[in-house]
Amino acid sequence: MSKIIAIANQKGGVGKTTTTVNLGIGLAHEGYKVLLVDADPQGDMTKSLGITDPDSLETTISTILMDVINDEAVDLNGIIHHEEGVDFIPSNIELSGLEVSLVNVLSREMIIRNYISQIQDIAHYDYVILDCMPSLGMLTINVLTAADEVIIPSQMAYLSVKGLQQLIKTIYKIKRQLNPKLQIAGVVRTMVDTRNNYTKDIMAVLDDAYSDSLTVYNTCIPSSVKASESSAVGNSVYLHDPKGKVAAAYTTFVKEVLTDECR
Ligand code: ADP
Ligand code: MG
Repeated sequence: MSKIIAIANQKGGVGKTTTTVNLGIGLAHEGYKVLLVDADPQGDMTKSLGITDPDSLETTISTILMDVINDEAVDLNGIIHHEEGVDFIPSNIELSGLEVSLVNVLSREMIIRNYISQIQDIAHYDYVILDCMPSLGMLTINVLTAADEVIIPSQMAYLSVKGLQQLIKTIYKIKRQLNPKLQIAGVVRTMVDTRNNYTKDIMAVLDDAYSDSLTVYNTCIPSSVKASESSAVGNSVYLHDPKGKVAAAYTTFVKEVLTDECR
């Protein structure tokens, strides 16, 4: 079994990167072999995994995808091992240049899919999890074309919930035109402040509006400053605040993701 998961939402600051890192490391704790891919030129995931200066890296997702575009054979070069048991491919600002140049490339939506399938032939990861940038441009289309399923982190604010419609439309368009196997695994509610009644109302809107077509994970990721601290020190919440509520929530979320896979 191997699964490619996109963590996507065109809105920034909703917990995509934090979810990618903690889902990935959580799955590694469960014994799975995991590759995380930073598909955001801002390199937040790369920084969250302890690379303080991504711009100084020689090999990144951009140089790797350039090799794929040029039809050069790919190898495991550029994949970094993190002390918490996952492998990852870093990104930096060069990726925004690559996104622009993709316009003129043959099969430009397939570059990431092509790369992952070559890597899987060599390394056989159980999970490849890709952290999307906050847009629905060509890089995100590439990620969605490569993925088996999408997990959508969303805050419980009215505009965030409204914004999901655009994302879901795009996902279905890619499913129809490029990647028939693509599924929405579900929405994971992030940075939830359960003491706030407004949050509760929005949860009701989300449940009502999408319950037919969209799974909403039972697990809510609570808001805690420990989560933002953990990205700053380059570790997961499990290592940074093992007894905290965010670590507990991500542990439950990982189990929920694994249960879904079994269904
Ligand atoms: P995105 O990748 O969607 O832009 P991030 O995962 O980078 O979102 O999260 C945005 C900001 O919120 C970051 O500073 C991050 O550290 C912080 N953050 C993420 N999850 C939580 C949480 N559960 N509680 C508090 N802050 C969080
Ligand atoms: Mg991010």
